[in-house]
Amino acid sequence: MYTTDRTWAEIHLDRIAHNYSLLRSLTPDNCHILAPVKADAYGHGAVPVSRLLADLGCDYLAVTCLSEALALRDNGISLPLLVFSYTNPGDAALMADRGITQAVFSLETAQAMSHALAGTGRTLSVHIKLDTGMGRLGFAARGQEPTDALAAMHLPHLDVQGIFTHFSVADEDDAYTLEQTAYFTRAADWLEGQWGQTFPLRHAANSGGALRLPATYLNMIRPGIALYGLSPNPPLIRADLRPAMDLKTRIIQVRQFGKGESISYGRTYETVADQMIAVIPAGYADGLHRTLSGKMEMLLHGQRVRQVGRICMDACMLDVSAIEKLSVGDPVTIFGQDGGKTLSVDEHAALAGTISYELLCAVSPRVPRLYL
Ligand SMILES: *Cc1c(COP(=O)(O)O)cnc(C)c1O
Repeated sequence: MYTTDRTWAEIHLDRIAHNYSLLRSLTPDNCHILAPVKADAYGHGAVPVSRLLADLGCDYLAVTCLSEALALRDNGISLPLLVFSYTNPGDAALMADRGITQAVFSLETAQAMSHALAGTGRTLSVHIKLDTGMGRLGFAARGQEPTDALAAMHLPHLDVQGIFTHFSVADEDDAYTLEQTAYFTRAADWLEGQWGQTFPLRHAANSGGALRLPATYLNMIRPGIALYGLSPNPPLIRADLRPAMDLKTRIIQVRQFGKGESISYGRTYETVADQMIAVIPAGYADGLHRTLSGKMEMLLHGQRVRQVGRICMDACMLDVSAIEKLSVGDPVTIFGQDGGKTLSVDEHAALAGTISYELLCAVSPRVPRLYL
């Protein structure tokens, strides 16, 4: 089964449960929670995370594409499930059969989907996607009437169950986010008036909105990163979130080097004294960003140690000179909790000039996930 001989990710489901209850406690009773479990639940494992969320009473799941949606259905996940991004219209009947909901963001694709369903006796559940200022997918709705969205809603084989939009700066700019919310509400109200029906679901808030702006909640929120225990904007947004993933590895060799010896490809690091150098079996093929070479720290015996030399595909080296009583097999925490100490993935993300999201998604499939 799972091996902790090499590099592994510990997924603490209890921490996801904690984060879920925190988000639940922020929202009123009539507000639903949609959990984005795209990209293998941000690297945490979509199937186990979805099972947990189903047990916790989560209302809705979302993924990016049909293959992710089918993997959940094939593993017995029966919660309502929205596909955020493009699906080939030829797969509309398959989606309908598997009870998967599609986001509709262009009239052309919506028409092709409806056309593909004609004569099959099937109806596809859809959510209308409006672009209120993200500048990505959706029917334009910054003041203009989304007439194409209305046309899509009238297509015969689509069943409109919801409407949503996505925020670009909910983690940092209240004014722009509230403006997006106002455009969204105005467009959704206009669509309902023309259509003569109401959208069962209206949703907009990502983690930034969910943690900062109750005015964005509508009747469903879509927090992703917060569910996995990280802030969408660490300097600005703090909440009692618990990071669910601890990335661990083990020392596989430790050796004494004399002063002036070079470590790893490119000889970018030279020992400055007699130093103990440990090799760990974690490299960029496991998800460590090579741009972090020589910059990142990890935890060993509850102490910080520096990574030295270039990160290789399958290994990298640590300066462990300051650590006493070392043995091969000793566990190293790349990020996460080690005894009483914590090293956040946010620290590595800042050093790499990126966000926690990218480092979590980078933890590769060859790293076993161990569920705790
Ligand atoms: C990924 C995603 C979210 C979640 O965003 P977070 O910043 O992780 O909370 C919400 N909605 C859509 C459409 C997304 O693609």
